[in-house]
Amino acid sequence: MKHTFIKITMSILGGAAFVLGQSACSNVAQTGDEDFQWQIDQFDDIRVLRYTVPGFEELPLEQKELIYYLNQAALWGRDITTDQNCKWNLAVRRTLEAIYTDYTGDRTGEEWPAFEKYLKKVWFANGIHHHYSGDKFTPEFSQEYFAKLLAQTPDEALPLDCLSREELAATLTEVIFDGSKYATRTNQRDGEDVVATSAINFHEGLTQDEVERYYASIQDPKDPRPISYGLNSKLVKESGKVVERVWFEGGMYGEAIKNITYWLEKAASVANPTQKEIIETLIAYYRSGDLRTFDAYNVLWVQDTISNVDFVNGFIETYNDPLGYKAGWESSVNFRNEEATVRTEIISENAQWFEDHAPINPAFRKSEVKGVSAKVITVAMIGGECYPATPIGINLPNADWIRKEFGSKSVTIDNITHAYAKAAEGNGFNEEFVLREEDRERIKEFGRTGDNLHTDLHECLGHGSGQLAPGVKGDELKQYGSTLEEARADLFGLYFLGDPKMVELGLVPSFEVAKAQYAHYIMNGMMTQLSRIEPGKTVEEAHMRNRKLIAEWCYEKGLDNNVIEKVKQDGKTYIVVNDFEALRGLFAELLHEVQRIKSEGDFEAGRALVEKYAVNVDAELHREVLERYNALGIAPYSGFVNPQYEMVYEGDKLVDIRVNYTEGYAEQMLRYSKEYSPLPTLN
Ligand code: ZN
Repeated sequence: MKHTFIKITMSILGGAAFVLGQSACSNVAQTGDEDFQWQIDQFDDIRVLRYTVPGFEELPLEQKELIYYLNQAALWGRDITTDQNCKWNLAVRRTLEAIYTDYTGDRTGEEWPAFEKYLKKVWFANGIHHHYSGDKFTPEFSQEYFAKLLAQTPDEALPLDCLSREELAATLTEVIFDGSKYATRTNQRDGEDVVATSAINFHEGLTQDEVERYYASIQDPKDPRPISYGLNSKLVKESGKVVERVWFEGGMYGEAIKNITYWLEKAASVANPTQKEIIETLIAYYRSGDLRTFDAYNVLWVQDTISNVDFVNGFIETYNDPLGYKAGWESSVNFRNEEATVRTEIISENAQWFEDHAPINPAFRKSEVKGVSAKVITVAMIGGECYPATPIGINLPNADWIRKEFGSKSVTIDNITHAYAKAAEGNGFNEEFVLREEDRERIKEFGRTGDNLHTDLHECLGHGSGQLAPGVKGDELKQYGSTLEEARADLFGLYFLGDPKMVELGLVPSFEVAKAQYAHYIMNGMMTQLSRIEPGKTVEEAHMRNRKLIAEWCYEKGLDNNVIEKVKQDGKTYIVVNDFEALRGLFAELLHEVQRIKSEGDFEAGRALVEKYAVNVDAELHREVLERYNALGIAPYSGFVNPQYEMVYEGDKLVDIRVNYTEGYAEQMLRYSKEYSPLPTLN
């Protein structure tokens, strides 16, 4: 599971917190920070940032080489992610790129910038749906203009491997301009057929009922170590039967996977013996598509807490499947930040204490917390679903039985949060949205510490905490599962952030850190995160729903005691927390209930919570937030370009690998499309 600043949270920053506004940077300043250009592009609701990779230069050469090969493996999966998000995405991206580079006509006039913006959005989202909300983009250029661009782009530039020029034109016109087709990437609206109405390329020609019956037919409910059914395949109907088209070297996406395994083999050749076995097991899985081998890989991977360099590469997160079975492809390559890891080590060493004191039914506590390993990392490369929008924390593996028997690995990504904080300095957010001076001061002084610790607690302990009641499989909550799981992890973090134990462990100076985080979290959940939603839309994404659920629930339950207050001043709305201790009590109460829902698989109660508190938007408040946000000129979403790595030889001998941060956004996207794009246009 990921913590995004939106996605991984932290929400994206963990979701929750966007690191917006000035917060004190608890990190040691990194060299060169002062003149570094953190933000390199802005369009629509998106900012494109760079991140740096401090510490890379000092790594031993063999670790740099390992990172280099893993980076290559990370880049070769990009097409998979794009195709997974919608079956027409590669056709769209390639056609737009062909126009962008080879269109022979006039590039002046209003519609060309609109076209360019649309392409930048498609790059950013790995497809035609917003990376976060999942809504299809509305182009700001006309159908006639598109026809003209296409007509003046030569055949040899266009993706005509699967479609004729006429078919391409007709199909893309519908895909791009018809608002009723492929409208939502992942539809989770209650009462609708979430399979048939989702554009995600995980199922084709099937209904929700058929898919649910298929899974029921292949699952063995008595297996104590079940595979992640359906994780790596597309479901289709052949001669009236539901079948899986498996994503492996000999199957769907094979051309991309062959390149991934090629670079993984190189990585294995320079890895330490433990890691060599891990990488070889991953290769074996990619070659066979066998999910038992994937589990074997995860079991090995989660136990390697020693290697300095680490990575994620595969079909991992299931957020985009409306039913939560199929995983998007992603990759992250990283190494440990030793200094900052001390913080997460303290937390994981005390994992059992936190579990024993969690405000949940003791029957749902784990009697023995296993192998929670936590570290702070520096990412060197992000790919697939982690690119360009990337999580700020990750906790894997996802299989419940592996987590129970072998624990999980949890990371907080420091160089990404650092880049967010640098890019947000002085943007006026807190001045606009935080009413009280005392809250602004606290957020300034303790905001980043609070965010980081909340992410640590969410990832290291929150997701791994608790246990299911006997007989509960874990998939009972269906389309509400992701939201409730994120809420559970967030509540765990919020509750313990304000625990005196945090002071005792030396992690925070006082309760002030929790107050800073609580004030920001509630304001974000009830109000400022609405900046990410288009007018008229509801909240769909799991992390955003989770934050809204928590904030709105606490607001309602605390009304009698005025725990959280909506203040109107000079025509503006503010959210103010009046009683932080009481709020912490409400977090405990809600955690108790959300844990019960998960442990008992209580679908109806989970649905009621989410539908009541997490989905619907107050149109008036929404309009106000968008106005105030626009006035500040802050784009609510961010993502990153990757650095470039270059091998340095003396004769035949590799002597160093150097990193540089000069590549632009469009430049990088076009290069990736040229150098790492092995899939046919239709798969
Ligand atoms: Zn999470």
